[in-house]
Amino acid sequence: MTEFVDGWIFGHTLGEGAYGEVKLLLNKSTGEAVAMKMIDLEKHPDARQTVRKETAIHRMLSNPNIVQYFGKRSEPNMEYIFLEYASGGELFDRIEPDVGMSAWEAQKYFRQLISAVEYLHSKGVAHRDLKPENLLLDENDNLKISDFGLATIYRMQGKERCLERRCGTLPYVAPEVLLRPYHAEPADIWSCGIILVALLAGELPWDQSLAECPEYMTWRNGKYMSFTPWRKLDNSSLSLIRNILTHSPSSRCTIQDIKRHRWFVKKFQKAGSIEGYIRPDETDSRQVLEDENLTRFCLSQPELPGIETNTVQINLEERAGFSFSQPAHIEDLLLCTQVQNKFTQPSQQNTFQRLVRRMTRFFVKTELEETVKRLINSLNNESYTCRINDCGTITISSMDRRKMPLVFKANIVEMDGKILVDFRLSKGCGLEFKRRFVKIKSLLEDIILKGPVTWPIAVATECMP
Ligand code: AMP
Repeated sequence: MTEFVDGWIFGHTLGEGAYGEVKLLLNKSTGEAVAMKMIDLEKHPDARQTVRKETAIHRMLSNPNIVQYFGKRSEPNMEYIFLEYASGGELFDRIEPDVGMSAWEAQKYFRQLISAVEYLHSKGVAHRDLKPENLLLDENDNLKISDFGLATIYRMQGKERCLERRCGTLPYVAPEVLLRPYHAEPADIWSCGIILVALLAGELPWDQSLAECPEYMTWRNGKYMSFTPWRKLDNSSLSLIRNILTHSPSSRCTIQDIKRHRWFVKKFQKAGSIEGYIRPDETDSRQVLEDENLTRFCLSQPELPGIETNTVQINLEERAGFSFSQPAHIEDLLLCTQVQNKFTQPSQQNTFQRLVRRMTRFFVKTELEETVKRLINSLNNESYTCRINDCGTITISSMDRRKMPLVFKANIVEMDGKILVDFRLSKGCGLEFKRRFVKIKSLLEDIILKGPVTWPIAVATECMP
């Protein structure tokens, strides 16, 4: 078995971050699962400082709607961060491109997001990169904020400082962040407003909140009603969004205002209800605003006072009120008394995958080779650049509508005697990835296996590092 350390085996890759992959680790005897963020310092020497700050902040946090930090392990060329495993995948997977989701679901996730952001701000922490890709879901469909790579402390001992660093993901960034300096809280609240638009409409309203962006100016000037995404929204959600996406941070509503708003407190019907939810007029695609320019950018990183410098950090006991299911053998992962890192040759049969409820995958009727052939053909016909590696992973690259790179991967694996085609975003806009997935799926419609599929808890699938 491919083990990370004694007793802990690798599961599948959960995703890709700015500095490396995130992998699932499973405890052989207890079955407990932990997400492990891997940072390759040889490839990204600049990441050392970022990881130090990220973990120093993340370790302070304990909230039901924030991914729990368990600890980290430092090796000369690698950093490993151990996190609560969010098995429900990314919130992005629940958003249907150009449609969104039901008002009931959007409200549930938005309430959890606001509750987590309120907690963060109560600790003096600004996240600064709130977006659906950084909102994960657990097995009970509860939202968990993740990725504190750009987070910072803006209030300490009651004293608030203004922030200077321009950072975030452009379509989610508040206008004042681009101008600087800015207050932390209204900037995070702005990003929550953009997330709410994405949840309710399945699209982002603009590339960036700057005067040069016509879609933003249309919004600012109040002449937006006949345009998408706004015309998809009902009056009460639109009223809340107007209060949040207010250009001036001092007039923008606060968390308390959001919690009192009628859309926030309204009781939506759960299943089958379309109250407050209007499907888009699909005939008018001309007005769909092009929305993808997900550039994560950072210019400077002020050092955080009081940051820890030790290489191995075990701080479980420091977290008062810590109450999440914490793996019993987490210390095995954190301690680094000897080089236990046993990355070995790929072992297809011995690795495990815990399936997340991702929408970007399907089973097919065809055999493995035929499936690869069909997929590659379809991708070539759509002018994608494809590269296949030794493990059979197909890397698919192209540019999105905004001429930003979009890279995703397809793994074709045998599972329970059936062939699964599994797509995962590597780089670029999550919504655009979903749109591309829907198109590719439609091209393979004739070979897709229909009907309910039983998902095994753990199955051998993936190629290891
Ligand atoms: P990050 O490096 O934090 O941006 O993570 C990259 C991707 O890995 C995310 O978008 C998720 O899809 C996945 N991921 C990160 N952390 C976790 C976690 N705790 N549980 C499950 N998946 C995760």
